[in-house]
Order: sequence, then structure tokens, then C-alpha cells
Amino acid sequence: MLSFIRSRLEAAFPALKEKLLWRLLRENLHEQRKLYAVSILAMIVVAAMTSSVALVMRYIVDAMTIPDNQGMVFIVAAAVALIFTIKGMATYVQVVSLTRAGNRIVATQQVRLYDKLLRQGVSFFNLTESSDLLMRVTQSAQMARMIIDMIVTSFVRDLLTLIGLVIVMFYQQPVLSAISLLIGPAAIFGIRVLLRKVRKIMEMEMASLAEIIKVIQETSTGIRIIKAFALEERMSSRMVKAVREVEKRSNAISRLEAITSPLMDTLSGFAISAVVALSALQIFGVQGTTPGQLMSFVTALLMAYEPAKRLSRMRITIESGMVGVRMMFTLLDQPDTLAEHPDPVAMPKGPGRIVFDRVHFGYGTGRPVISDLSLVFEAGKTTALVGPSGGGKSTILNLILRLYDPGEGTVTIDGQDIRMASFATLRDRISFVGQDTFLFSASVSDNIRFGSPSASEDAVIAACKAANAHEFIEHLPQGYHTQVGENGAFLSGGQKQRLAIARAILRDAPILLLDEATSALDSRSEALVQEALQRLTKGRTTIVIAHRLSTVLGADKICVIEAGRLAEEGSAKALLARGGAFRSLYDQQFGAAQARNTA
Ligand code: ATP
Repeated sequence: MLSFIRSRLEAAFPALKEKLLWRLLRENLHEQRKLYAVSILAMIVVAAMTSSVALVMRYIVDAMTIPDNQGMVFIVAAAVALIFTIKGMATYVQVVSLTRAGNRIVATQQVRLYDKLLRQGVSFFNLTESSDLLMRVTQSAQMARMIIDMIVTSFVRDLLTLIGLVIVMFYQQPVLSAISLLIGPAAIFGIRVLLRKVRKIMEMEMASLAEIIKVIQETSTGIRIIKAFALEERMSSRMVKAVREVEKRSNAISRLEAITSPLMDTLSGFAISAVVALSALQIFGVQGTTPGQLMSFVTALLMAYEPAKRLSRMRITIESGMVGVRMMFTLLDQPDTLAEHPDPVAMPKGPGRIVFDRVHFGYGTGRPVISDLSLVFEAGKTTALVGPSGGGKSTILNLILRLYDPGEGTVTIDGQDIRMASFATLRDRISFVGQDTFLFSASVSDNIRFGSPSASEDAVIAACKAANAHEFIEHLPQGYHTQVGENGAFLSGGQKQRLAIARAILRDAPILLLDEATSALDSRSEALVQEALQRLTKGRTTIVIAHRLSTVLGADKICVIEAGRLAEEGSAKALLARGGAFRSLYDQQFGAAQARNTA
């Protein structure tokens, strides 16, 4: 029986054929079942009351037109008042509970989508545009809600109202009702053709919406370049194009939606006028009926029109909303690109010896970035990674942070393969200061505390002093409570870098990764920060990437990375004496004469 109903529904509503729609309904209706139960009960009452209005028309008209029935007027009047009061209350309950359930669905799905994003590895974000993600998280959950609202309202309230009204019609005028029902479904016929178009247009509209978000994002982040290169007009025309596309698609969709109205209006108009004429002509067995019965029938017919129209339009709304639902489920079903081990172990609290054993890695572009790399970062020592740009130095740090997994080989810390470790305990052992300092839109002090939320105010100040940041922070309008703006917009590059270093100092982790951590500092600040870093790096496993070789000469070991391979390693002195890759890098930077002196 259930499968029969399902196949009938699928025939009537092509979108139902998609498993996604069933899944959407199953998951969400089940989760919010209490609210939907209340809402559905209220809808049943609304539908019953609407049909009662048509039914009671008979008694209103009869009470007014048949002299003997005058006594009924008051009873009928009271009944009308009662029906409308109950209908009003039920409508209130229905709207409130349905809206609540809908809002809960949007909230739940958005959290689910965001959690899914957080579980993705960095490679996912490299491949997916942020505007697309924004669209998925914000719009698609709304569309899912719209579809569920639509289905629940249409299938329960509208369908029950329609059934109730049809019963009233048959009860009052069986023959005329049969004639009306023959004409009605003809109106639905044309809609099937429209459905196919809707999906396509909607997909294009979503793509254009994503483009609008992208243009705005790029304008916000790249405004300096846009101004400097006078790109305003180009950006503006990109925006105009995207906005026009959305406008065009929205118009097309509304045209399709609107076309169902005149279609139904015209056909219904004919149906109603024909029925009224037939009843006036007193044919088809309408003799002997009271004016009240006829009135009740015509009222039911007129009232049936709205729910029937909404039911027929439902298909177009579902079809257009399914684009968003498909986008939502595609993201939710995405396998986690970098998942935590199902049974993760805690990282041992060792000294922090990092070993790369025959590691191969590429970013999925087919080109190897790290090839057969075996390398040891001794615990408590500072190792510098140097070498030509694009050689793979930052990639090595990415692998230690487990932002990516090696294709082959292992990375271990204190003998523990980091793939087996829980993300929390792995990252707890590491402090990282990168080339681009990212700051959250929060106060200076909150930004420093991000890595160690329980740190005291005094500890924050101490870390800032050590990072040579305290002085400039004190000169900010609200000191440590100054808001830094979106990604630290109110701070200079050097100031941001010092905050990032303070953050790392405060975190106090045994492994310290510094990727060009002082590149944005002037030489005076750099000297001060270097001094702070020297204090900080004592006793920690430190890996430093620096293009300025002067900053790494004091490292315990220098590794030259070229094209993803270890070209050579050793102390600065040994490498210079050897006259290999490091020597030539050094000569390029300091000039041959000075190099000779140092050697
Ligand atoms: P630099 O000194 O310029 O910072 P690097 O030695 O740190 O360079 P990496 O950033 O590790 O080099 O990059 C190594 C190679 O990997 C480069 O050729 C780069 O183009 C490529 N690469 C880096 N990140 C990605 C990514 N997310 N997706 C694809 N390729 C990438």
C-alpha cells in the first residue's frame, strides 16, 4: 500500500523520484517531529474549519431566505463566529510551530554544514571557492526549509482543505460537483512542461549568486590592489554582469511561476461560470434544492480554488528549491579529505623529535612536491630549512602540522606516527608562526589568547613584551582591548607578525614552527624579535624557514631543500666549508668577498 502511494506521488511530483527529497523529509521531519505533529494537528483543524465555512453557507442563506427558518439565524451566527475563532487560533498555532520547526532545520543544517567544512583538510579549501561555500551554508539550508514547509503545508493543509471542500460540494450538489471535477485537472496539465525549465534556470541563478558573493569578497580583500591598478571599472562590470544574470533568472522563474496562475484562473473562471449558469437553468437535477445548498456548493467551489492552485504550483517551488538541497547534500556527503584516525591515540609528551622517513607528497596536481625525503629534526634543537623558492619548505611544515598526509612514507614525532594521533593532542604540541599572519576580527588580547584561552592577562602582557609588541600595543587607542579589524586591517604587517609571535610564545608548545616569521619586520624590530625568539627556541624543537640566511646562521642544523629533496645538511660552518648548495645561496646573498671573510 505504502509503495503504491509512493509511486502515485512520484508520478505526480517528479522531484520526489529523487532520493534526496525523501532523505530531506525523512531526516528533518523525524528530527523535528514534535513541532511538526503540533503543526499538522493545527492544519487539520484549519482544513476542517475552512470546509465548515462552505458548509455553513447553506444555513446562512436558508436562514435569511426561507421565512420559517428565521429562528436559526442566531444559531448560525454563533456557529460562524465559533468557526472563525477556532480557525484563527489553529492558524496561529500552525504558523508558529511550522516556523519554529523551519528555523530549527535551518540552524541544524547550517551547523552541520559548517562542522563538515571544519572536518575538511586544507586541500578541500584550496579546491573550493569560498563564495561557493558561503552559498551552500547560507542559501541551501534555507531552500531545504522552504521545500519542507511547502510539502507539509500543501500535503496536509491544502490537500485536506481541498478534500473537505470537495466533500461539501458533493454533499450539496453531486452532479454539479462531478462536472467541476472533470474540468479542474485540465488546468494542471500545462505545468509538467514548465518543470523541466525551472531546474536549469535555478542552477544558473545560484551560480550567478555565488559570483556576486565572490566579487564582493574579492573587492573587500583586494581593495588596495583594485585602487592601485584602477580596476574599479573592471570590477564594476563583473558585478553588473552577475547582478543582471541573477535578475534575468529571477524574472524567468517568476514568469514560470506566474504562468500557472492565469492558466488556472481562466479555466476555473469558466468552470465556475458554467456551474452557476447550469444551476440557474435548473438542469442536472438541481430542482428542489434550496438557494442555501447552491450557495454552499458555489462557496466550496470558489474556496477550493486557492488550495488547488497552491498544490499545482508546489511542483515548481519544489523543483527550484531542489537545486539548493542537492548542493547541501553534496557538501554533507563529501568524504572528509583528512580524517582523524577512527581510534586516535594521544601524542606522547616527549621532547619533540620529528622524523621524516622516505616521505613522498604532492598537492594532487600530479606533480611531486616532496620526493623521498628522510630528515630528522632533533629534539630541543633549531633546524633551519633554506633553499630556492617553491622547493617545498612550507610543505614540510604543512606535513608536520598534518594539514596534509604524505602519499608515501611517515612523519613521526617522538616515535608516534602522526596519522594515528588525535588532532587535538598533535596540534597542542605545536606552535606555528606563518608567512601570512591571520588575525581574527577581535581584540588584540583575544587574538593572542586564541592558542591558549586560559592564559592570564599578565601572561599575555609578558608574551607581548617578549615579542617586542607591548610598546606598540600600549599606543593603540584601547591598548590590549583595541579591535584589530577584519584580518588585522588596522595593523601594519610587522605589528601583525609580532602579535603572531606573541601568540606562539604564550602557547608555550614544545615544537615551534617559524615560516618566515620575521620577514615583515624592519631591521631594528627584527633584531629585537630574533633575540626574543632565541630565548623562546631554547630547549624546543624549532624549525625555521628563512630566506634571509643571516637569521639562520646560528641554527644547530641547516637543511637545504631543493625541488622537494634534501640537497645537503649540516652546520652553517660545515656547509660553507663544503662549498655546495648552501655555499652558493650564501654567496648570492652576501657576495663572494664577504663570504670568503666569514669562511
Ligand atoms: P617559498 O620559499 O617561496 O615559500 P617553499 O619552499 O616554502 O617556497 P612550498 O610553499 O612548500 O615552497 O611549495 C612547494 C611547491 O608546491 C611549489 O611549487 C608550489 O607551487 C606548490 N604548492 C604549494 N602549495 C600548494 C597547494 N596548496 N596546491 C598546489 N600546489 C601547491
